[in-house]
Amino acid sequence: MAAGSPCASCKLLRRRCAKNCIFAPYFPSDDPHKFAMVHKVFGASNVSKMLQELPVHQRADAVSSLVYEANARMRDPVYGCVGVISFLQNQVSHLQMQLAMAQAEVLCIQMQQESSMANQQMHTDDKSFLLHNSINTMPQFMNFASGSVVQGPFKIESL
Ligand SMILES: [Zn+2]
Repeated sequence: MAAGSPCASCKLLRRRCAKNCIFAPYFPSDDPHKFAMVHKVFGASNVSKMLQELPVHQRADAVSSLVYEANARMRDPVYGCVGVISFLQNQVSHLQMQLAMAQAEVLCIQMQQESSMANQQMHTDDKSFLLHNSINTMPQFMNFASGSVVQGPFKIESL
C-alpha cells in the first residue's frame, strides 16, 4: 500500500485505511471499480467476514472468485454466474457430441480400409492381425459412445 493513500475499499466506504486493513492487499486504490462491484453485490461487511474466515493464502483466490461472480451478477441479474456455467456446460456437451461423431467417422473409415485390405490380402496372418486391431479399437469407442452421446455413432454406422 502506498503511504497515506487508502485502499479502494476504504476510499469508497470513506474510512481510514488501517495498517492491517483486510481489503488493502486485494483492492488497490488504482482499481476502484473492482471493489465497487463486489460491494454492490455482496456488501462490504459480508466480504470482510468471508475473508476473515479464510486462511490468508486462500484470500486472493476468494477475492477473484467474488469479483468474477459480482461481474456475472451485474451482467445477468437473474442467473449470475450460473448462466455462464450452464452456457459453458452446453458448449462442452455440444463439443463432446461433435467429438463422438468425428470418432465414429474415423472408426467407419478405418473399418472400410481394413475390410478392403482384407479383401486384397487373403493370407491368414494378415487377417488375424486385422481382427486383433479392430478388437483393440472397438471397446474404447463403445465406452466413449455410451458415456456421452449414444445416437450419433449408430446413425453413421448404418450409412
Ligand atoms: Zn483499506
